[in-house]
Amino acid sequence: MKQDILIVGAGLSGAVIGQELAQAGHRISIVDARDHIAGNCHTERDPETGVMVHVYGPHIFHTDDREVWDYVNRFETFLPYQNRVKTSSGGKVFSLPVNLHTINQFFGRTMRPDEARAFIEQLADSTIEDPQTFEEQALRFVGRDLYEAFFKGYTTKQWGCSPTALPASILKRLPLRFNYDDNYFYHRYQGMPEGGYTQMVAQMLDHPNITVELNTRFARSQKTEYDHVFYSGPIDGYFGYDAGRLGYRTLDFERFTYDGDYQGCAVMNYGDATIPYTRVTEHKHFAPWESHEKSVCYREFSRECGPDDIPYYPIRLVEEKSLLTDYLDRAREEDRVSFVGRLGTYRYLDMDVTIREALDTARAFLARPETATASRISELVPA
Ligand code: FAD
Ligand code: UDP
Repeated sequence: MKQDILIVGAGLSGAVIGQELAQAGHRISIVDARDHIAGNCHTERDPETGVMVHVYGPHIFHTDDREVWDYVNRFETFLPYQNRVKTSSGGKVFSLPVNLHTINQFFGRTMRPDEARAFIEQLADSTIEDPQTFEEQALRFVGRDLYEAFFKGYTTKQWGCSPTALPASILKRLPLRFNYDDNYFYHRYQGMPEGGYTQMVAQMLDHPNITVELNTRFARSQKTEYDHVFYSGPIDGYFGYDAGRLGYRTLDFERFTYDGDYQGCAVMNYGDATIPYTRVTEHKHFAPWESHEKSVCYREFSRECGPDDIPYYPIRLVEEKSLLTDYLDRAREEDRVSFVGRLGTYRYLDMDVTIREALDTARAFLARPETATASRISELVPA
């Protein structure tokens, strides 16, 4: 039986679920509170410089999931792109993630891989057996000098609290390499959409069974008009924040232009606590196949997310666990609503994982629409 489906949010989660269910013949209405599609992956041409800008911060597509890679390539041409991040610390520039070049440059040495490994092991605090906090993880794996140069200041700015209050898992996202590989990601597939992410999402939404309404905020009362709702907005927002707000960091971007090449790379991090921003993104370097005389850059500042700000990074501090559990329990019980995506499940999700989960959610719904409500969120977010 064909159903009337409402999807809240025209980001990657909403677009993939919409595309899959529309293909299967369902009638899809998508609403988004913003005036554009593609959610936080939104890209647009800067009118002054002609550069394609990642409006909500730098987005690099990387994955080991072959099906997801093939999926995105169906909607947009991906051109080769490798993320090579630099960091400025103490008046010098180093390469990230921490690799043999970073170590040799930082300590003024010419060590081979084995020597560097032994050297770092000797700097690392081996008394920390099972690191729990970000700081313990850093001290255990790279030692105090590298921690203070590259991680302590940056992390304090990014998360607004001491690395002693953050979980070790945040740092575990970054590798430590004893070779000269400065590719920020390990994944087999990495690239950048030639026409931008918004063009890719527009292709996903281009289906006769899909209608999209922008500048439209979802109200819970609308639920009764549909057979099923896929909700990719904030989980606490769905319940009117009645038990309190889950913590997020938001970002402010300070735009500036430059005649020529400002920093010679797409992303320059700033490790020093004395510099108030975390990084500078020079957008034209995300599209090395294009050529632009002028440049547009964003300085990125992180701060606590207020009620009117865009939620970017879920903080997930220990104290928040009971609030999250409360919302998740209620989400599981909500009839004919599936909570999806980074905001709907309050998790940091890369784009490839977002797409994988959206595909799985759509397939589960197509297989057994009547059980779709709670099953996905129980699977994804353990109680
Ligand atoms: P979103 O993109 O947030 O879409 C949700 C949509 O729902 C939004 O458009 C919003 O306006 C809408 N909405 C919310 N509430 C309502 C409502 N009540 N009514 C109507 N509409 C509503 N991933 C990578 O793989 N590589 C990267 O390099 C990378 N860089 C990132 C950098 C930053 C700064 C951040 C914050 C994230 C980054 N990500 C990256 C993650 C990536 O942004 C997410 O994977 C992706 O945006 C998740 O898509 P989504 O559809 O779940 O959420
Ligand atoms: N980080 C840091 N210094 C850097 C880059 C990252 O201290 O130069 C820390 C920071 O706490 C960040 C985490 O490592 O949140 C994970 O880094 P990643 O690049 O994955 O950050 P994201 O993509 O989440 O912005």
